[in-house]
Amino acid sequence: MKIGIAGCAGRMGRALIRQVINVSYEAGTGVLSGGVEQMGCEAIGRDLGHLAGLDVIGVKVSGDVRAVFDVSDVVIDFTLPAVTREHARLAVSSGTALVIGTTGLDARDNAAIDRAAAVVPVVQAGNMSVGVNLLCGLVEQVAGALGEDFDIEIAEMHHRHKTDAPSGTALMLGQAAADGRGVDLGAVSRRGRDGRTGARKAGDIGFAALRGGGVVGDHTVIFAADAERIELTHRATDRGLFAAGAVRAALWCDGRAPGRYSMRDVLGLSPVVASDHADT
Ligand code: NAD
Repeated sequence: MKIGIAGCAGRMGRALIRQVINVSYEAGTGVLSGGVEQMGCEAIGRDLGHLAGLDVIGVKVSGDVRAVFDVSDVVIDFTLPAVTREHARLAVSSGTALVIGTTGLDARDNAAIDRAAAVVPVVQAGNMSVGVNLLCGLVEQVAGALGEDFDIEIAEMHHRHKTDAPSGTALMLGQAAADGRGVDLGAVSRRGRDGRTGARKAGDIGFAALRGGGVVGDHTVIFAADAERIELTHRATDRGLFAAGAVRAALWCDGRAPGRYSMRDVLGLSPVVASDHADT
């Protein structure tokens, strides 16, 4: 598979380059076909391997996104929602599969992704790690088993540079809890309490976001009753974890029918069908 990386100079972009070079080159499963950055970025023109702290590979960071789509079988995108939306359009016109890790996607972004998924395979997940996707299954199960006397709260912490909240992972976990309870997350989610909030409403699913330092990603789902509390926690300590999942998803796209897929599809944790966008 020829793999292009959008946002290749970012934190995730560099981790993705390392993952492809260190693992896929070795296994003979994938090669880097290109990397793209936004116009004006100082990384443009630098060698991708060098950018990621490895040996030179002879592929340079480009500012021409169209050219990168054209030479790639699949593009992995960890950028910004508006940029991802544009890349979804390019995936259609170039016939290139797309793996989307960008979080903070809104309805407009999701509509563009759905349009792309009608033409090419698209894997999109707010978290690409095996552990978090397994945790979602557990949360769904626990939420389904416990009654509304257990309040559900989701706490997350990320590094100081993160620009959206709650995290895509927190929303995935909230969706899993809502699915377990058979309720609509939009109707019960409570975010960012502040001031005179009144008492907690039964059935709410609450979110709290902390930001600071270099935290890669901590998530805890709390089921709190009067006399006991269950807490399910996932802590990511290296973003190579997400890169490994994203590259696995990119390779999984090879020969796949058009459709919108989740990481659970890639990991075989759910039937392989084009999924809706429950986990954005
Ligand atoms: P980052 O800011 O370090 O990297 C984003 C990169 O995108 C930057 O290098 C930026 O220059 C580049 N970019 C911006 N506009 C562009 C354009 N028009 N064309 C090409 N590149 C462009 O951020 P990050 O920490 O790498 O995270 C990126 C996204 O991935 C965020 O939304 C984050 O929440 C998400 N994320 C998802 C997962 C997951 O598993 N799904 C894991 C970690 C991060």
